Amino acid sequence: MSSATATTPLLAIDDLAVHFSSGGGFLSAPKQTVYAVDGVSFSLAAGETLGLVGESGCGKSTLGRAILRLIEPTRGAIRFEGQDITRFSQSELRPLRRRMQIVFQDPYGSLNPRMTVRAAIGEAMRVHGLVKGPTQEQERVAALLARVGLREDAMSRYPHEFSGGQRQRIGIARALAVEPRFIVADEPVSALDVSIQAQIVNLLLDLQDELGLSYLFVAHDLKVVELMSHRIAVMYLGRIVELLPRQDLAARARHPYTLALQSAVPEVDPKKRKKRILLAGDVPSPIAPPPGCAFHPRCPIAEKGLCDRERPVLRELGPRHQIACHLAEKVAPGGAEHASD
Ligand code: SF4
Repeated sequence: MSSATATTPLLAIDDLAVHFSSGGGFLSAPKQTVYAVDGVSFSLAAGETLGLVGESGCGKSTLGRAILRLIEPTRGAIRFEGQDITRFSQSELRPLRRRMQIVFQDPYGSLNPRMTVRAAIGEAMRVHGLVKGPTQEQERVAALLARVGLREDAMSRYPHEFSGGQRQRIGIARALAVEPRFIVADEPVSALDVSIQAQIVNLLLDLQDELGLSYLFVAHDLKVVELMSHRIAVMYLGRIVELLPRQDLAARARHPYTLALQSAVPEVDPKKRKKRILLAGDVPSPIAPPPGCAFHPRCPIAEKGLCDRERPVLRELGPRHQIACHLAEKVAPGGAEHASD
């Protein structure tokens, strides 16, 4: 029996870091450390979605994989259902694997092209001993396909015979085949057309309602993250810089990076349109993150002598609102001005 209680979060991450070594080969540059994830903490309740947003290369996908122990963390702790799984061996992790699943951006890459849909989904059920024989397996695969909006005849077909949206439905069905409680959805709609994105988002929301799933929803598109999430964590260069409830994002966000991301979201209503905040340059390399606040070289309000020297820690700014910024109190909540056009 799990030691988790009603008050224990389903997932609790404490100071998680993933550092890689890069280079160091014969005739190449000396070995350097890549600080892909550098001290991330948060918790996730049963039935909750935490949206993880940031530009590509900020470490969000690495974080998702490290939580599932698909990448080994360098330091920190991962507690799932009340158990510290950070140092679990692969055999200790096996029974947990079915409760923690992942849906990829490109399900095609994770589906064996030589396996029919029936074989791919049925294999996951068999490996975890969830079906008693071929008849039950056939019935369960058919039921799952129906649940994700695919016809029964999809069973005998191969991955290349489906569209991108249909393949994502197959990826979701395969994740669901083992009855998970927690799913890392890693950019699951980023490669899809906007109309198909909405269908997949709605499917994930329906499944959450029905099955009480928890999601870590990883995406670079703030609009999609807002649709999906109960809370939103904004990541920059391996760290969470702001974490707040979804409903507070528009009016209460204060981190200059969050405000810049918000200002880039196209808004039809001129009253809601924010003045575009253009960030200078690209995301710096995680090999040599800038000193002090990693965002300071691009921050429009950075203070010399403070922001370039002292690293801001994630602190409470208000109820369920955390921020890592020295000057958060000086920033107008939700962004100061609205665009006039
Ligand atoms: Fe900008 Fe300074 Fe806040 Fe970093 S700490 S976001 S540089 S104001």
